[in-house]
This record gives sequence, structure tokens and C-alpha cells, in this order.
Amino acid sequence: MATELVLLGTAGAPMPVAGRGGISSALIVDERVLLIDCGRGSPSAFAEAGLDFTRLEAVFVTHLHADHVGDLPGMLLYPWGVRTGQGGPLAPIRVYGPSRPPALPAGDAVFRRETTICPELPAPGTADLVGHILAGYAYHLNVMPLDARMPDAGALVRATDITAPAWTQDRTQVPVVVVDDAGVRVTAVAVMHGRAVPALAYRFDTADGSVVFSGDTSVNADLIALAAGADILVHQVADLDYLRRHGMDDAGLARMAELHTDVTQVGGVAERAAVRELILSHYLPAEPDAITDAQWADRAGQGFNGRTKTDVTGKLRAKPA
Ligand SMILES: [Zn+2]
Repeated sequence: MATELVLLGTAGAPMPVAGRGGISSALIVDERVLLIDCGRGSPSAFAEAGLDFTRLEAVFVTHLHADHVGDLPGMLLYPWGVRTGQGGPLAPIRVYGPSRPPALPAGDAVFRRETTICPELPAPGTADLVGHILAGYAYHLNVMPLDARMPDAGALVRATDITAPAWTQDRTQVPVVVVDDAGVRVTAVAVMHGRAVPALAYRFDTADGSVVFSGDTSVNADLIALAAGADILVHQVADLDYLRRHGMDDAGLARMAELHTDVTQVGGVAERAAVRELILSHYLPAEPDAITDAQWADRAGQGFNGRTKTDVTGKLRAKPA
């Protein structure tokens, strides 16, 4: 048995920055490759990490902001040609992620949208997204097989919406079981990420140990309970003070505090969850020269007795045991 975590990209927020790829992580469980989020550059980072596209089994989406799913189309479409074996097409890549929210979140006086895009389906879920990717790339999927031997496009992907009750402060969640087979058990809870409802955190339990991905979240008890006793907690970090010093106003900062866990809080989360190792990811600010790795680690480790790791390039590898 061998389980390995590989960070493919660790940048928070959609804006591309030099020197750090968009948010995406891989968990390899006995040669099965499971991806958590598919941000900017994820397919290239997957190749550069030496991972095998024929082993890609599933993608677990934490939420449907573009920095987490922007390169999902590429992750499905670029390796399509190799998704075949002696017996025909490989098993479809499974994509798991949030379902449609019960209602389109409303704005307020400060934060609101002008135009509602696609009013007939303004807040599509994961299965909707994957369906729309296939529809949008129908040209490629229908025409490419006429010029090259391609596996059946109908076998490329299967999407599954995860229905987790929306996060609320006063109700303790029971984690939803997403996958449970001989090699891995995947569970999820809803976390608090502003108006991004639902947003999910995932826990992966394997024979070698357990790895938890916070997704994007403010501090909340459901994530801490999900992460309890895990070997590795991969947790997002934001430096709100940095954002304040660089011009974010009070309203923006207040909203940011509902979206993200500040770097000064993340050590306390890891300590309360009693995880063995805290690995930082989804850095905000994402520019590698804005804050050094040592500064991130130092501040994030406050109040945490385990080990804290950082990784500026998004190439870190770690084993749960
Ligand atoms: Zn994000």
C-alpha cells in the first residue's frame, strides 16, 4: 500500500500570478490518482509531477468558483486520447462536487451583481457544469474521432452531485460518504465560504493514513470535526492584514473574513483537530514574493504543536504515514 499527496498548485483566487499554479492537489492511493480541485494549470502540473493520465480516477471539487474548476475542461479533454485500454475505453473519470444550491444567493447594498448570467439556470451544480463542458466542446468530441482513433466520448466522464446540507452555525453535520471501497473512504462536509453555497471539505481515509482538504473556508467546527486526528490537513491560508495594507477596505475585509481562514487562525484549527501535520495551500496573496515561505509557516504554526509545511511552487510531496 502506498498513499502519497502531491500539491499541484497552491494559488488562491482566480487571478493568474507568476511562479505559483492554481489550486489543485493529487492524492495517489495505490496508483489510483484522485484529484482535489482543478485550478489554473492543473493538467500541466499533473504531467510535470510525473502522474499518469490513464490512472486518473476521480476529481473531487470543493466548490464551483473558477479558481477551483477553471481547468476541469482541460483535465477531461486533453488526455482523452489515452483514456483507452485493450478492452476499450477506460472507466469514465468520475467528477464529484457540490450540487445546485437550493436558491441563488442574494446580494446586498455593497456586494451585488448587475446582470444575472443564464437566468434559467443561474447556479448550476457539478453535474450541470460537466454537462455544459461536454456541450461546449461538442465540436472537438464529435469531430476529432473522424481524424484520429479516439475512445468513445460517451465513456469519458461521469459526474455526481454531492448533496450535503448547507452549513449553519448551530447544527453539527454528519459527514456525507462520497466513496467507500477497499482502498479509500471519502467523506465530505459543507464548510463556510461566504455566498459559495455549498462549499465542501473532504477527508480521505486510506490504509496508510488520512488526508483532509479544507477547501476554502472560514473557521468552523464541522471542518475541525472532519479533520479530527488526521495525519495531514491541507488547509487554505489568507493574510487579511496583508490585504488591508494593500488597500482592501473594511467592507471587503469583513466579507473576506467570511470567506477565508486567516493565517493567524489556521494553527488553532490544526491544534483543535489534533492533526499530525499541517500543510498550507491556497495562498492569498498568491504572489510568491509577497510573503516568504518562512513567514507563512511561522505565523500559521502559532498555537499548533504539530509540524507545519509550506510550499511556494506547488510541488510538495508528502506521505500520511
Ligand atoms: Zn479559492
